Amino acid sequence: MVMTGRIYVPSAVEEGGAVVAMGCFSTQETAMNVLRSFLKKSHQVPLERASVASWEIDVVGDDAVTMLSEFECRTCPVCHRTTFWLDVERFKATCYGSACGAWIAESDIEAGVIDCGWPPTQFSEQVETIDDAMRSLRRIAARAESAGLSALDSTFQFEP
Ligand SMILES: [Zn+2]
Repeated sequence: MVMTGRIYVPSAVEEGGAVVAMGCFSTQETAMNVLRSFLKKSHQVPLERASVASWEIDVVGDDAVTMLSEFECRTCPVCHRTTFWLDVERFKATCYGSACGAWIAESDIEAGVIDCGWPPTQFSEQVETIDDAMRSLRRIAARAESAGLSALDSTFQFEP
C-alpha cells in the first residue's frame, strides 16, 4: 500500500540566516499555532523571517513544497519590540508581543483603505497608506507613554 500525505512545517530564520526548526504537523492550524507562540518571543531572538509551508510526502523536489504564509519581522510602532510580523502576501501586520496586539490591515470592505488599531486602548483608525498607519500607531503609543503608561502593561486603561 502506498501512503500519501501532507505535512505542515512552520519555520523561522534568524538574523544571519540560521533556520529555526519547530517540527512538522498534520494540520495547517497546528502549524500556525506553533509558529504564533514562537513569534511571541521574537524579541528575545533576533529573527528576520518566518513561514508555514506544506510538504507532500514522498514527492521529490520543488513540487513537494507549497508556501502557505510568509512573514517578515518589523519593530512594533507601539511597543518597540521586534514582535511586529508582516504577512508578505496580503497586507496584514500584527504585533504578537504580549499585552500589545497592535495591527494594520487592508480593509476587506473598501479598496485602498488601511485599518489599524491597538486593542488594549480600543483605538482604531482608517487611513490611506501603510506609512500613515505606522505613524498613527506611533502617535497613539507616544500619547500613552507621555501619560506615563507602558504599552507592555496589560492592565492599563487609556482613553485615546
Ligand atoms: Zn507591539
